[in-house]
Amino acid sequence: MESLKDIIKRCEEISFDLNFTRAKEWKSQDDSRVIVGHMPIYFPREIIHAVGGLCVGILGGGDKKQIIKGDAYYQSYICHMPRSIIEMVLDGHFEGFDGFIFPSICDVIRNLSGMFLLVGKGKFIKYLDYPQNFKSHIGGEFYQKELQHVLNQVYKLNNVELTQERLNNSIQLFNKNRELIKKIYDIRQQTPWRLTAADVYHIVRAGYMIPVEEHNLILENVVQHIQEDIGDNLDKIRVLVIGAFCEQPPIGLIKTIEMAGCYIVEDDFLLGSRWIQKDIENANSEDGLLNTLSEAYLNHSTFSSSIYDVDNPKEARLLKLMKERKVDGIIFAAPSFCDPALLDHPILQKACDDNNVRYISFLFSENTGQFKVIKEQVGTFSDSIKLWE
Ligand code: SF4
Repeated sequence: MESLKDIIKRCEEISFDLNFTRAKEWKSQDDSRVIVGHMPIYFPREIIHAVGGLCVGILGGGDKKQIIKGDAYYQSYICHMPRSIIEMVLDGHFEGFDGFIFPSICDVIRNLSGMFLLVGKGKFIKYLDYPQNFKSHIGGEFYQKELQHVLNQVYKLNNVELTQERLNNSIQLFNKNRELIKKIYDIRQQTPWRLTAADVYHIVRAGYMIPVEEHNLILENVVQHIQEDIGDNLDKIRVLVIGAFCEQPPIGLIKTIEMAGCYIVEDDFLLGSRWIQKDIENANSEDGLLNTLSEAYLNHSTFSSSIYDVDNPKEARLLKLMKERKVDGIIFAAPSFCDPALLDHPILQKACDDNNVRYISFLFSENTGQFKVIKEQVGTFSDSIKLWE
C-alpha cells in the first residue's frame, strides 16, 4: 500500500493543479466524455457522472495565481475568489471544459456567470437556482427542473441519456465518497494528531479534481493508515472553524491555526463534498429519476450561510454540531467582503454568547500571505481556554 506521506504529497499536487491535468487527460480517453466545472458550494455531481461526465470543482486560484487582469472585471469591495477565477479564464486554464455551473449562493457568483458569458467560455453556462422552499411539491419540483436543464445541456454534447442503472451506480459511488470522508473526520475527532487539518484539506480537495472512483481509492487508503496509532497527542484545544464555505482559506492559514495551539476537528472548507449528510437512496424507477437527489437536498443538506431555511435555524445547528464534535471553541473565519458569511456571523455569535461558547473571529483572502497577527490571536484564544476553562 502507498505510504500516507506519498498519498498526501500526491493529493497536494492534484488539488492545486490549476491546469486540471488529470481531468483533461480523463476526457481525452473517450470522445463522449465531458468536463463540467462547478463553482462553490454544492452541486449533485452524481448526475454528471451518470451521463459520462466529470464534474470538476472550481475553487479559485488561492495563493497560487497572481491577479493581473482579474481586478479590472470587479469593483474592489468584493471577495477575492471571482477575480482569480476570471484570471484563470483569461489565461486559458479552462480550455477543454464543456460547461460551467454557478450555484446561486450570492450576487458575486451570479455576476461571475455573466462574466463567463461575456468572455464566451464553455458550451453552456448554467446559473443554477437552488430552492429556498423545502417542500417536495414546490422547492423539490423546481430543483428537479433545474437539474434536468443541466442534463439537457450535457445530452446535447454527448447524446448520453440518464438511466436508472447509471444513476444508481453514480449515487452509490458518491455515497461511498461521503462515507469515507466522514470516517476521516470521525477518526480525527478522536485522534486529531494522526493527520493534520492541512493534510485532510488536500485529501478532500483532490476529490474535486479527479474521477470519484480514483478518489474513493485514495480515501480508503487514508482511512486504513489513520486507523493505526500514529503521531503524538499534543496539548491543543479542539476547534470548529466556520465561514470559509466558498472562497477557500490559504493552506498557510489552516496550518497557522493548528500551529497556534488548536486541532481543527470540524470546518466548512470544501463543504460541497460533505453537503448531503445521509446516504442518498437509489432511484426506484425510470420515472422521477431525480426524486431521491432532490429529497436528499431538501431533507439532508448541511447548514450554510447560502441557505435560508427558516424552519431549521442554523444557530441551533451550529451548537448541535459543536456538541457532537466536542469542541472547546469556535473560530469564525470568513473571506473579506463575503456578504453571506458576514451577515450570519452576528446571529451565530449571539447564539455562542447566549450559550457561553468561546469564539474568536477574523477575515482572510484566498491569497493572504501574512499570518503573524492571526497566529497571535489564535494562540491567545487557545491559551485562554487551556489555562482558565
Ligand atoms: S466568498 Fe462569499 S461573497 Fe464571495 S463568491 Fe463566495 S459566497 Fe459570494
